[in-house]
Formats: sequence, structure tokens, C-alpha cells
Amino acid sequence: MEDSPPLDGRQCPYINDCPMFRRIMTDALRKVFIDLFCKGDFELCERKKLRDAGEPVPDDLLPHGGRLSRPI
Ligand code: SF4
Repeated sequence: MEDSPPLDGRQCPYINDCPMFRRIMTDALRKVFIDLFCKGDFELCERKKLRDAGEPVPDDLLPHGGRLSRPI
């Protein structure tokens, strides 16, 4: 998904098809979430927790649990 590799070589297994990236249009904000969650503490991501549990993941759910009312 993004060019820079994670520092420790680990990244979220869903990074290549995560719908979150369609909702965030701002490069800077996308990078923040990727650095903090997708290539950082992805086990803390609220989207990943739901997906791992086999539960539906709301389209507008952000990794930290916040919601997007519209694409930004
Ligand atoms: S937003 Fe969450 S589920 Fe999606 S790729 Fe990043 S860490 Fe994984």
C-alpha cells in the first residue's frame, strides 16, 4: 500500500485491501494512521480487531475507534 517499509518489518496483514484507505483522501492523515497502526501497533487497530473476530467492519471506522462522517 505505502512505499516506506515498517521499521521492524511487521505490518498489518490487511494493509493491501483495507477499505480505510478509500475513505481517507488526505496523504498526511493517511500516513499518520499507517505509521501508528498499519505499520506500527496494528494489533490495537479497532478495524483489525473486528475483522479478526469475523464481525462486520463499519466503512467509516478509523483505527483508533473514531468515525468518519464523510471522506477526508
Ligand atoms: S487500518 Fe487497521 S485493519 Fe486496516 S490495514 Fe491498518 S491496521 Fe490493518
